[in-house]
Amino acid sequence: MTLHGSDAATADLPDRVLRLVQARLDNTALGRTTPPDELLPLFDGAITAGGIGVPAGWDLFERAVAAHTVALDGPRYLAFIPMSPAASAIWMDAVVGATSYSAESWLEAAGAVAAENQALDWIRRIAGMPDGSGGAFCSGGSIGNLSAMAVARDVAGGRRLCAVADTAHASVDNSLRLLGMEALVVPTAADGRFTGEALAAALAASGRAGDLALVVASAGSTNAGVIDDLRGLADVAHAQGAWLHVDGAYGGAALVLPECRAMFDGLGDADSFIVDPHKWWFSTAGCCAVLYRDPAIARRTHTQHGPYIDVLHTGDETWNPSDHVFQLTRRPSGLPFWFMLVVHGTDALTRAVRVAMELTEHTVAELRSITDVELVMEPSLSVVLFRRSGWGRDEWRAWAADLLAREVAFVAPTTWKGETVGRLVFLHPLTTHDMIAEVLAPLRG
Ligand SMILES: *Cc1c(COP(=O)(O)O)cnc(C)c1O
Repeated sequence: MTLHGSDAATADLPDRVLRLVQARLDNTALGRTTPPDELLPLFDGAITAGGIGVPAGWDLFERAVAAHTVALDGPRYLAFIPMSPAASAIWMDAVVGATSYSAESWLEAAGAVAAENQALDWIRRIAGMPDGSGGAFCSGGSIGNLSAMAVARDVAGGRRLCAVADTAHASVDNSLRLLGMEALVVPTAADGRFTGEALAAALAASGRAGDLALVVASAGSTNAGVIDDLRGLADVAHAQGAWLHVDGAYGGAALVLPECRAMFDGLGDADSFIVDPHKWWFSTAGCCAVLYRDPAIARRTHTQHGPYIDVLHTGDETWNPSDHVFQLTRRPSGLPFWFMLVVHGTDALTRAVRVAMELTEHTVAELRSITDVELVMEPSLSVVLFRRSGWGRDEWRAWAADLLAREVAFVAPTTWKGETVGRLVFLHPLTTHDMIAEVLAPLRG
């Protein structure tokens, strides 16, 4: 049995993989999760000195691994932020996995880098960022936020204060700790929106406006899908000489909808912006686009130097993605997204994103028809928060557990301003009204 190349012992592996991928593309089942005491024994003795061969190894993979996962990419997954990669992205991701394109540098993978940069430039344009803005794809929003915030810190001189709303993603808080920065947490009002006015007031109250290095805004908060007042925040941040980073990991996808553009007013003035095509842009896992208004500044922070890699830096005319994010070796995780755009066109992307908005609208109408249920707020994007009279933490958890046990849907309640509430996120274009009816049925009492 050969490790590299192919031989008789591994010859049917491609067929097995293809069958699994094809089956998954057509499967809308939710899948299941399993307690450790049931799952872990299946792995006993799997790693041996001699190996167990393809048939037994594949069988183990199917029984122990594949059978015990929830389909985040399915139409019944309505929790956290789901995924729903397009078939074209999935197949190109398989190519990316198989080829080990070394997309850290232009020297090694010019073609892959050029394709990724074409996709980045398309994002730049719809975000309204100026020509010359650029960056790289990295593994996800958390690393994207960390990478951009590191650049903001490095250009801030001795200033270390970062203004951030109480609605910012958890990775922002972690990034601040890793970067040795200090958070000025600005509370949001009932609408969950971080505004320029609130920022100015918080700075004045803190008496520390002169320490401000960075303002982090959300363009689609994870919990509620709220887009902050980017215009107001840009104005206040820049008046203080501070950096504006916009985290659009989830909500940035709505930039493809002309009817949503106005909500992003001010984004074009951001110093850095991220969006995760692996969320609402239907690419495969591990794909975050990071854009800087001035990529040369980012290179000062992220370029790695060493006798073994200086040869990668062949001149200003070439572009090394790894100089713009905290990652050296990297798969070209933007390539599946680029391929999807090329194959289907941007109108297809727009239509698919809009489906989630329509599902949200439908759900809002359904919720309004249920006595004892009310919306926490009018949704801006595709997240719906709602309360039901008489329901607290235990009832919401029981609702979620029951839906999962019956394999109806994966949902997760959340906390909004201290109260446990129901939460649904729409993203998958194949979620149906019938599925939504099943999810809402227990609320009708
Ligand atoms: C999902 C999310 C992140 C984190 O992205 P990962 O890709 O999971 O690392 C950051 N910010 C926001 C607003 C998000 O929704």
